[in-house]
Amino acid sequence: MDFSKTRRGTAAVWAGETEPFYDGATTPPIVNSVTYAYKDLDEWYSVATGNAEGHIYSRNTNPTVHVLEEKIRILEGAEAATSFATGMGAISNTLFSLLGPGKRVVSIKDTYGGTSRLFLDFLPHYQVNVTLCDTTDYDALAAEIAKGCDVLYLETPTNPTLKIVDIRRLAMVAKRVGAVVVVDNTFATPINQNPLRLGADLVVHSATKFLCGHSDAMGGLLCGKKELVEKVFRFREINGASLQAEPAYLIARGMKTLELRIERQNASALKIAHFLKSHPKVADVFYPGLETHAGYAIASEQMTGFGGVMSFSLRAGYDAVKRFLPSLQYVHLAASLGSVSTLAGPPRTTSHVELTEAQRAQLGIPEGLIRYSVGIENVEDLINDLSQALASVYP
Ligand SMILES: *Cc1c(COP(=O)(O)O)cnc(C)c1O
Repeated sequence: MDFSKTRRGTAAVWAGETEPFYDGATTPPIVNSVTYAYKDLDEWYSVATGNAEGHIYSRNTNPTVHVLEEKIRILEGAEAATSFATGMGAISNTLFSLLGPGKRVVSIKDTYGGTSRLFLDFLPHYQVNVTLCDTTDYDALAAEIAKGCDVLYLETPTNPTLKIVDIRRLAMVAKRVGAVVVVDNTFATPINQNPLRLGADLVVHSATKFLCGHSDAMGGLLCGKKELVEKVFRFREINGASLQAEPAYLIARGMKTLELRIERQNASALKIAHFLKSHPKVADVFYPGLETHAGYAIASEQMTGFGGVMSFSLRAGYDAVKRFLPSLQYVHLAASLGSVSTLAGPPRTTSHVELTEAQRAQLGIPEGLIRYSVGIENVEDLINDLSQALASVYP
């Protein structure tokens, strides 16, 4: 089916599912088979050598996993897509495929915790030259890219203060030096932002978050230019960080409601951000949909919605946070984000637990900061819940 004119909500449901499945099934079968049998040796040989379509062994490709890959490929408007066991599988396979001894990568200081461990601890071990710039310092980033690099790796909005990076402007600088531009689009999802349309070559996702949407399966996805995706796929086949059929099914199932969920979460988060912003006990609210947010102008240009994640700090500091969070009713105090249920936690305990207080301060993360990932609950219930918890904590 040609999806070129299909809108996103429709593509989320139908991509990868246009051919009839086994015995007329209307949902994709979960194919747990590890291996695929052939009666004709010539056909088997053609598939094994990549000259005919088909599956050989599920570490390489799997029919259920393919359905999911098609969904992200169509939603991001990409030539090709592949998948991984986790988001970190997608990111590490991509970076290790594109980089090597003597190569150089430029990125930002605020990447996801696991990604920044790759930049700080693992890639330098393989003689990769890593330069991390202040996330919102466009001039510093442009100057470092212009010196020459092989990969520009971006993430926007960032975790946990929702900083915004101008993908289009930086991708233009990267093109001049022939660098591959990779963007982690986990926070925005393809409903709110399409990095490939802004000049990126590759997009990575932790499908564990909004794409799955129910906190019940892990996965990673990569899509973009065919030649680059194939290069990473060839490494992943051997590296072995392959996605299994069962989580692929759950993520593809979750993705059918992606547009519905994201539209709801965009609207609720904006309402909640305004509520918190005007609350006397709240010190700061970080949400790119607020006009007071430093990234508001760029976010309004490159995103079609501001997403479901925000962070905020209480005037009374971390001691108040310790009493405030447990008195919320409709929230799991847990790591992760992007679920149908609201999730919250302090970055000092979750995403940035490995850093010292001084390092967190350097990234502009107050000790009393709370990351709040809005679920699909009724927004009035969420606001009332926040309101009662703020009232009960300190009069
Ligand atoms: C969670 C997350 C990852 C890592 O994904 P996993 O599925 O947990 O491996 C990468 N990037 C961002 C922005 C994330 O939020």
